[in-house]
Amino acid sequence: MPPVINKKNCTACGTCINICPQDVFWGSELKKIPVVTYPEECWHCNACIFDCPAEDAIKLRMPLPMMAVIR
Ligand code: SF4
Ligand code: SF4
Repeated sequence: MPPVINKKNCTACGTCINICPQDVFWGSELKKIPVVTYPEECWHCNACIFDCPAEDAIKLRMPLPMMAVIR
């Protein structure tokens, strides 16, 4: 499931755009809130979550089967 950006907390630093190996944020403009262009390409590597410098600015919506495993 795609990453979800919290527009209130995102500082538009561009880190997630640059780090995503799947180009999920393809076409996003630097210094603007990222756009989740290809949500289906996200493979939940968590790189964008770990490297985001802002607090609670980005999170992943886990697919239901994965949530069942985590619980
Ligand atoms: S979790 Fe990984 S693949 Fe998904 S948007 Fe973040 S960096 Fe890209
Ligand atoms: S890394 Fe975090 S603060 Fe930077 S653009 Fe992405 S969501 Fe916003």
